[in-house]
Amino acid sequence: MDQFKLSIDKREKLSYIFLVLLFITLLFGLVKLQIVEHTVLAKQSENNRIRVVSIIPRRGIVSDRNGQVIIDNRPSYTVSVVPSEIVKGKTIENLSELISLDTTQIRKRIRRNMISKYQPTPVKRDISFEVVAILEEQYKKFPGVVYQMERVRQYNRQLGAETYTGYVGEVSENELNKITDAELHLGSIIGKKGIEKKYDNVLRGREGTKYIEITASGQLVGEYAGKSIIPADPGANITLSIDNDLQIACTQALDTFCCGAIVAMDPRNGEILAMTSYPGYDANIFSSVIPESLWNEIRDDTTHPLLNRPLKGLYPPGSTVKFVGVGAGLEEGVISENSKFKPCIGGYQFGNRFFGCWKESGHGSLNAVHTLEQSCDTYMYQLGLKLGIDKLSEYYQACGFGFKTDVDLPQEASGLNPNTTYYDKRYGKRKWTIGLVLNNVIGQGELLVTPLQLARFFCGLANDGIVYRPHIVKKIEFFDQQEILIQPEVAFTLPFSKNTMRILKEGLTMVVEGEHGTAKRLKNKYYTIGGKTGTAENSHGENHSWFGAVAPLENPEIIVIAIVENAGHGSEVAAPLVGQIIESYMMKKLGLQTPEDKTDSTNIALVGETE
Ligand SMILES: [Zn+2]
Repeated sequence: MDQFKLSIDKREKLSYIFLVLLFITLLFGLVKLQIVEHTVLAKQSENNRIRVVSIIPRRGIVSDRNGQVIIDNRPSYTVSVVPSEIVKGKTIENLSELISLDTTQIRKRIRRNMISKYQPTPVKRDISFEVVAILEEQYKKFPGVVYQMERVRQYNRQLGAETYTGYVGEVSENELNKITDAELHLGSIIGKKGIEKKYDNVLRGREGTKYIEITASGQLVGEYAGKSIIPADPGANITLSIDNDLQIACTQALDTFCCGAIVAMDPRNGEILAMTSYPGYDANIFSSVIPESLWNEIRDDTTHPLLNRPLKGLYPPGSTVKFVGVGAGLEEGVISENSKFKPCIGGYQFGNRFFGCWKESGHGSLNAVHTLEQSCDTYMYQLGLKLGIDKLSEYYQACGFGFKTDVDLPQEASGLNPNTTYYDKRYGKRKWTIGLVLNNVIGQGELLVTPLQLARFFCGLANDGIVYRPHIVKKIEFFDQQEILIQPEVAFTLPFSKNTMRILKEGLTMVVEGEHGTAKRLKNKYYTIGGKTGTAENSHGENHSWFGAVAPLENPEIIVIAIVENAGHGSEVAAPLVGQIIESYMMKKLGLQTPEDKTDSTNIALVGETE
């Protein structure tokens, strides 16, 4: 150093000192930047993790026509995992123990539902508050695990309303491929059946987004100020045409029997007032992930609780559709109001087969109205032969059978209205007998209807032939105050003249009011009621018991259709059951108490009057 100093002059010496100082300064700066500040910056970037969190909107509330709740939401917690924050050998293992879900399941759900590695991926919904408390207290044990408040659907179980509420669940890959909504991703909740499915896009609302800041160890710092929140739009609320009181009356009426369905409608506009399928299921079980054992139990139940009987149950309608044959006969000039056929001797001989009437002792000679009143099969057989298969089938078609009602609910069946084309296809050309019309004309054979189709037909009978499209939604109210009121739509008009309608309505009346009416036990002093019994033979055991009713007759405002599977005669099972439902509706409307002497006035069991 000294030798070097001596070799330079004073000026050089000063320059050297300056350079050395500069070098030291630069070196210090470099060290500071490279070592000290790097550590600090690195630490900061580790600390300030930003998570993108979806704001799940409140799903719309569904109420009945009087504002009573049918579907609501309840608060619950969902546990999720942020994939980028998972610590190997810790996160998933500890979480598995906490939520009792094996590690393979958790990994599978993360893989399936992941939107991005920085976003929480739902692993289990509807976790208990104890689990939340543990996650809160022992957060270090669960790196990358978060929980979120999420609303869960709550269905009013007392109503037995699954046929139209449906339920929600996580979207499947298959569904996701069919829906064109960018917002949906695996793990999203969507409507799976019923109103929840049909109106999913309005009920669901629109997701929002927020950004939150957390520490490296997973503690929440707060909302991240660098990006602004996109708020969620709540889902629309829906008002149904359902009357909850009537719905409960229908559900309770069926629960002493094994299986069946009831539909109540307002014939003046097509509004569905009540609809039930029995046995049903608890839609609430689908709100969280349903245990496999429970799912298997429901699926394998031989009483088919998952079958939506009003919309998808296919039944022979039995005598409830005799109006169609009689109406067709009158329109086609095959019969007149008072024309008669060969008397009923307890049945009718056709070829080498004797087709029985339900009344073995026979009805004698009847006209059209008395045929409906007493439900004589012999008259109908002769009428059917005069009409022929295709003419009868045309009238069934024109009365709404064999095609969907276009109700505002998903998954409806079309039914079956056979004609010669159908039989040729099924049995081969001319390999069947025209005697099949004898079955079709009394609502048997291959004719199959859904309870909703039959309800729609009775609406037409009650409403001077004008048939409205059945619907269940009355009003949709969006969160921005906009609303849609659903207007009634005329679907078609029954193919009957005014005079024919008068005769059919007289038949409807006589079933209850007539001396020999098959449902005369429903006659009472408080209101008028008309109807038609049906006893449908079927290949699955005992006869199905049907009844369709209209009340009050002078100005109909309700029709009720009930089928009780394998329960026997319509007059003995379904008729009193429907009578009870109409009574609860009419008494409430008239402001009267249920009469204490109702067993005397309306429930007199008749011996020998069946069908
Ligand atoms: Zn008869």
